[in-house]
Amino acid sequence: MKPNVAPPSHRHDNVAPASRRLLEVVVLSGKGGAGKTSVAASFAALADRPVIVDCDVDAPNMHLVLKPVVRERGGFRSGWEASIDPAACGRCGRCATECRFGAIVRPGTREEHWRVEPLFCEGCGACERVCPRHAIAMREAERGEWLRSDTRFGPLIHARMAPGAENSGKLVAFLRKKAQDVAGANGAGLILCDGPPGIGCPAIATLSGADHVVFVTEPSASGLHDLERAVDLAARFRLPGSLFINKADLDSEQADRAVRFAAHRGLALLGSAAYDPAFTLAQMRGLTVVESNSAGASAALRAAWIRLQETLAEQEKRRPAFRVTASQPNPSPSPERPATGQPT
Ligand code: SF4
Ligand code: SF4
Repeated sequence: MKPNVAPPSHRHDNVAPASRRLLEVVVLSGKGGAGKTSVAASFAALADRPVIVDCDVDAPNMHLVLKPVVRERGGFRSGWEASIDPAACGRCGRCATECRFGAIVRPGTREEHWRVEPLFCEGCGACERVCPRHAIAMREAERGEWLRSDTRFGPLIHARMAPGAENSGKLVAFLRKKAQDVAGANGAGLILCDGPPGIGCPAIATLSGADHVVFVTEPSASGLHDLERAVDLAARFRLPGSLFINKADLDSEQADRAVRFAAHRGLALLGSAAYDPAFTLAQMRGLTVVESNSAGASAALRAAWIRLQETLAEQEKRRPAFRVTASQPNPSPSPERPATGQPT
């Protein structure tokens, strides 16, 4: 299907014309299900050959709509895990007794060997120290793989974490460095990151050193609460930001609160979209929202992209004065805001 996006000549420049420096823009929601990836993928479709990064390494899904063709891949190693040499092992079982994580698997038969279950191994090295035969070695653990792919909109840097693997923050940092290298080689003006949900390690690794955050929220008590947490996190990095409100017609009162919150925290308002099944339908067809049609949410996203270009240009002119407000006490998007962890 022919992409329903503006031809390159009608696209806005990726970068503020005043500087032309490489910009890293992160799309973040603080909460799953707000439409963050659909917004990020649509911006990728509207931008001029950006480098796209899927920083949601625990549950990546940009590839579902961008249909990447893998050009390069490599292993991602982080931390340590034990490995038993069966030829040297004397089958005494001391390692299993010492291991506090139940990671040493006892052999079921005489033919089987003592072995380490990588999923449970914490890499503490205790087994290595007690083994009388020096049959255990510590090695760097394979936590997943990174990939550089081509898509119809530009290069995509993404990853696959191994099941149960941790250290996704380190992997995100690696992906962003890779994206900067690719952008440098391609002369790209924009790195567009689809951020992870939440405000944990991967989100911190995504925001560190970025230039701008696009927050995507939906008008609900939990959505605004998570938005506030994400904005607080970005404020720690003194990052400028903007806001796009998805499904704005679901609760107009909460949507108004989101608008007021944006004004209070110095976020540029990129616009809003009413609930539109095009978000789901486009994903099912492997398309971005802006490719799937030209009305409804698609039109709202196109307008938001133009507004983002204007915001970035203004930000570059005023840099570094234009920043998310980090003042305390923290203004709440909702007077009856639930406490952290409270079900909503
Ligand atoms: S402590 Fe060493 S020799 Fe004993 S079972 Fe474990 S690996 Fe084998
Ligand atoms: S390194 Fe630690 S966690 Fe891993 S198998 Fe040895 S004792 Fe268990």
